[in-house]
Amino acid sequence: KKEKEFSKRFAPAVTTDKHRMEVVANIANADGALEAVNNGAEGVGLLRTEFLFLERDSAPNETEQFQAYKKMVQHLNGLPLIIRTLDIGGDKEVSYLNMPKEDNPFLGIRGIRLCLEYKDLFKEQLRAIYQASKYGPIKIMFPMVGLLEEFREASKIAEEVRVEVGASKIDIGMMIEVPSAVLMAEHFIKEADFFSIGTNDLTQYVLSMDRGHQGLAKKADALHPAVLKMIKMTCDAAKKENKWVGVCGNLAANPLAAKILTGLGVKELSVTASSIANIKSEIRKTSLKECEELALKALSLQTSDEVRSLEE
Ligand code: PEP
Ligand code: MG
Repeated sequence: KKEKEFSKRFAPAVTTDKHRMEVVANIANADGALEAVNNGAEGVGLLRTEFLFLERDSAPNETEQFQAYKKMVQHLNGLPLIIRTLDIGGDKEVSYLNMPKEDNPFLGIRGIRLCLEYKDLFKEQLRAIYQASKYGPIKIMFPMVGLLEEFREASKIAEEVRVEVGASKIDIGMMIEVPSAVLMAEHFIKEADFFSIGTNDLTQYVLSMDRGHQGLAKKADALHPAVLKMIKMTCDAAKKENKWVGVCGNLAANPLAAKILTGLGVKELSVTASSIANIKSEIRKTSLKECEELALKALSLQTSDEVRSLEE
């Protein structure tokens, strides 16, 4: 029985018709990397680096960051680590940046926009990431990209830093969590190495509902067909360029959603460590064909309640 539990967690997620889904973890720190490995993660699909920056009086310096990233790479022991560059602003504030007060922080200077305003901070983080990349497989991912020029500027800075620290090239991808990035995905994916869809923010911006609003929690549903259509557009654009798409928002940990996402063409699901075994076993119970039919059905529906009722 123990053996069965073990293989359930650590065996790959393959559908009954032999389609392989990658199941990786969302983490916030080095302990999280260890927890991910112990729970059967095939890597880390999202390191939320902002947790290294929150609740302190100053930003962690390059050495501190390098040591944290290196430790994660070591815990992962050859498994890939996707490091998302600093994603603050919005609801995540840090006192030491003295950010001007905004009327609409979720529509203000956040994510990559903030990094491009605070370039020294951004470069310091990139230096730490590229130094750590000498110790194991790391990929970089930029958050909240909405405009091509943002991706280009951030990539250009990353490339300058890479050359400066003498590191090898690594993949640079971006989060898809802003509607404009979905609509322009065919252009972005010519320049980005991969996409990872942040369904938490994407839902917020597509439905125009604050992701933390108590009164809207039920309506702000990532299983809304409008959000699913956005995910499909993203996958279709990436497929044309032979690039892969992951999902790292909370939606990926929902069993029905995991099947719909598989059917829409998502290749990687990044979830909290505690959900990994469960998502893997959901995938093993189904076939790609069933997932594709489910996805098609979901796309034809009109409300999130209708989508949710697809769960038998
Ligand atoms: C998301 O927006 O779905 C996401 C994964 O990023 P975060 O939750 O950290 O904003
Ligand atoms: Mg987000």
